[in-house]
Formats: sequence, C-alpha cells, structure tokens
Amino acid sequence: MKYNQVILVVFVIAVVFSIGFFAHQQKKIIISRVKDMPIQTKTENSLNQDNKPQQKPQPVQTATTPAEIVWANKNTKQVVFTFDAGAGAQSLDAILTILEKYNLKATFFLTGKWAEKNSEGTKKIATAGYEIFNHTYSHPYLTKISDEQIIDELTKTEVIINSLTGKIAKPYFRPPYGDRNQHARDVAAGVGYQSVYWTIDAWDWRESEGVTAEQVKSRILDNLKPGTIYLMHIGDNITGQILDGVFSQILGQGYQINPLSVSVK
Ligand SMILES: [Zn+2]
Repeated sequence: MKYNQVILVVFVIAVVFSIGFFAHQQKKIIISRVKDMPIQTKTENSLNQDNKPQQKPQPVQTATTPAEIVWANKNTKQVVFTFDAGAGAQSLDAILTILEKYNLKATFFLTGKWAEKNSEGTKKIATAGYEIFNHTYSHPYLTKISDEQIIDELTKTEVIINSLTGKIAKPYFRPPYGDRNQHARDVAAGVGYQSVYWTIDAWDWRESEGVTAEQVKSRILDNLKPGTIYLMHIGDNITGQILDGVFSQILGQGYQINPLSVSVK
C-alpha cells in the first residue's frame, strides 16, 4: 500500500468511528432527555411534597373558626339578655311572662338534658318565637373532654331541640361554665358552632352563695352599656323576681333589648 492509501484508510476509519461516536452521543443525549422528563416531574413532586404541610388539611381549622362573641354591636344603644338552662326551671314562667309584657325577644341557651326534662318549657320558648341555641347536652367542662365528646355534646342537643321545636340550635353555642379554649372552639366550629361568651355575668346563679336579688339588679344596671350581653339563668329564683324592674329601667334609658342574632350585626 502506498503511503497515500494508508492515510486514506486511516482517515476513512477515523470518519467511520467519529460518525459512530457522535451517533452514540446523540443517542445518549436523547435518552438522557427522555430520562430528564420523569426526573423533572419528580422534582415537581418533591416540591409539592415540601409544600404539603401548608396544604394538608389541619385536624382543626383555626383559620375558619369564627371569633368568639363577647359583645353585641356597640354602635347601637341596645343590650342582649341571654338565659342559660341546665339546672332547674324556677324562673322560666316569669321570664316568659315578662318578655311578653314588654314585647321583647330574648335568647335562650339550653342543654339537651334540660330540654328533655322540660320538653313543655322548651316548646313554650320556641312557640313564643325566642331564639334557642346550644348549651351542650350534659353541661361538661369542654376543655376536659375529647373532641369526639364535644361534637357529641353539641350534635345530640341539636337533635333533641330540633325534634321538640323544629328549630336548629345553630350557629351559636355557649360553653358551660364559660370553660373553653381555642381548641374547643375549633372543634365546635367544625360542626357549625360559634362560641358566645358574655359581657356581664349577672350573678343570679350565685343565689345559693347569698347573692341577693338587689345585688344582681344593681350589677345589671351599673354595667349597662351599648352592646352588653348579659348572662342570666332559668334555674334560679332571682331572675324571675327582678326581670320586670330591670327591663323597665333599661328601656326607660332609651335602650333596645334585642335577641342575640339581631344585635351582633
Ligand atoms: Zn350553663
């Protein structure tokens, strides 16, 4: 072979190898691109996984729990009377008579147990057109029971009140003893309830401790301010004794006495 021919053969071999090499490289690039695609997807997935803790539904939805109601609307010269029932029914007839006398609408928080025991009283409250909301079934400390028990306390009462009156005891509940925390409120919000505390506890329930009707009356009138939500009870004697005088004095000062659902707006 001549020298030129050797060069040519080497050149041809070199060209053939080069083509083979580039073709192989090209194939590798294509393969790696194909491989990249799922890798990119994987990356997106892992980003999603990183973001997941924020997107995960929380066991309780703090963000959607409505604020607790402590005051009614302070911009209107109005107050709210709320009557809780869990124990007796000593003042019920007097409360209903006095509300009717002044043509007022008040708000009642009943326990399921009380409603069962006082089914006629519960029906009377409803047919008179007064609001009935949820005060749990057995009046427990909500911070000391499980989430399931809180839900059960509220839903059980809802069913009882609904079967007696045809009304829905939503969207308000009053925590027994005022015992609640953020968690209990979150759990209650999960089943459609907003906590209603009070502005002034009238202390009528402290009758057994020696608190007098006159002291309760003074406490109510001394704390009269626009938007006040008063806490009173059906199961004591004082409420029935003083309510007529209390209403006449409050109305005499130009205040309206409104049901809760109206006055919080
Ligand atoms: Zn109570």
